[in-house]
Amino acid sequence: MWSFETDPDYQKKLDWVMRFVKDEVEPLDYLGVQSYDVKNEKRNKAVKPLQAEVRRQGLWACHLGPDLGGQGYGQVKLGLLNEILGRSHFGPIVFGCQAPDSGNAEILAHYGTPAQKKKYLQPLLDNEIVSCFSMTEPQGGADPKVFTCRAELDGDEWVINGEKWFSSHAHLASFLIVMAVTDPQAPPYRRLSQFIVPAETPGIEMIRNMPVGYHSKPGHAYLRYNNVRIPKDHMLGNRGDGFVVAQTRLGGGRIHHAMRTIGQVKKSFDMMCERVLSRETQGSLLADKQMVQEKIADSWMEIEQFRLLVLQTAWKIDKHKDYMKVRKDISAVKALMPKIFHDVAARALHLHGSLGVTPDMPFAEQVIESFHMGLADGPTEVHKVTVARQVLRDYHGTNQLFPTQYIPHLRDAAIAKLGDLIEREVSAA
Ligand SMILES: Cc1cc2nc3c(=O)[nH]c(=O)nc-3n(C[C@H](O)[C@H](O)[C@H](O)COP(=O)(O)OP(=O)(O)OC[C@H]3O[C@@H](n4cnc5c(N)ncnc54)[C@H](O)[C@@H]3O)c2cc1C
Repeated sequence: MWSFETDPDYQKKLDWVMRFVKDEVEPLDYLGVQSYDVKNEKRNKAVKPLQAEVRRQGLWACHLGPDLGGQGYGQVKLGLLNEILGRSHFGPIVFGCQAPDSGNAEILAHYGTPAQKKKYLQPLLDNEIVSCFSMTEPQGGADPKVFTCRAELDGDEWVINGEKWFSSHAHLASFLIVMAVTDPQAPPYRRLSQFIVPAETPGIEMIRNMPVGYHSKPGHAYLRYNNVRIPKDHMLGNRGDGFVVAQTRLGGGRIHHAMRTIGQVKKSFDMMCERVLSRETQGSLLADKQMVQEKIADSWMEIEQFRLLVLQTAWKIDKHKDYMKVRKDISAVKALMPKIFHDVAARALHLHGSLGVTPDMPFAEQVIESFHMGLADGPTEVHKVTVARQVLRDYHGTNQLFPTQYIPHLRDAAIAKLGDLIEREVSAA
């Protein structure tokens, strides 16, 4: 059965969310405070009452099952919600489903000890604290096999030494999840393990905290771990399971980014449409020019295609309840996301003329953000390779000289099979 309808009761909730995000949440984006800065009193004064309202509406942490205080709505409903929340930097924070905390919470829920869950998971789920995922290294992120940051066992403690790059929100985080080499001689995908590192542990040095683009606040840390000692039980999962543990967060993380990206892209598209219906040049509206119409049509078609792919992938995740079975679809979504985001935001920027390139409009930030979406959680090329490999598993080659669909051979085969029949029909006519 196919259906493209939203359950009416849930649609009522979505209508409430749209009004709430537009009226109450989007204004927070213009106050100049970081949405993740949970230690900022001004931020908390504005955010906490909104979070309380979201809880009252039963919409808090919808990415989680009821065992962790969420609604267990599944990915399709989450997708419809996230595409509204993506309109605002504060949207995910106000609704308790922001990255990377959502993925880090999944890791802790799966692999944390009861004490770690009490100390970190619950406050994380309550947005009392925020967290960091520290995996990429300066010499390469797309290929974790080149990672060198080491964790060595010394008595009852792990000692971490090495550098990490682009550890987002490290300066605000109460703990970091660090991926480090524990077994350098092991096969490539068994060398790394994951650890929970409390932010106050001595030896965590921030070399630089970088912004993206040219007008955002610094938030992506270049870190050096200098003899950082953590208790033995701070390993998450088994020794050598670093990649297995990372997968716990990556499948969900990628599709959730895509859901939120739909919200951002639709926002740019709305602005693009408003602009072309407002601005006149050479005696007519921009909306009347065919090359402008092409930009509107291309953008609308691309957004609709992308949204359908995202929702269908969400539906498959709900059906299989196993990210690995939906790997191809998630990689396809991940690879398409930066292109749709970039192309629509760039057209919106262009149609706003010189105003479009200024920080007075969001397009330059969105264009940079589209590159973030193309890099974080694996570059586009790597995901395209995954799609192609998975697709080709359903095919096989031929050892014949000509392809199986070579028409002269098909014709010969058809005549051999049906030739008599055709001759009889022709002579009877
Ligand atoms: C805004 C932002 C936030 C981030 N936050 C975090 C975070 O919180 N924690 C964290 O650990 N990391 C984070 N990252 C890092 C991100 O995961 C890496 O940027 C990503 O893995 C790519 O690694 P790299 O930057 O070292 O690029 P490289 O690995 O050097 O790749 C550079 C380019 O090479 C090409 N390339 C790479 N591999 C292939 C291939 N197999 N085939 C063809 N071409 C290829 C691609 O064009 C790629 O973009 C963040 C990145 C950004 C931009």
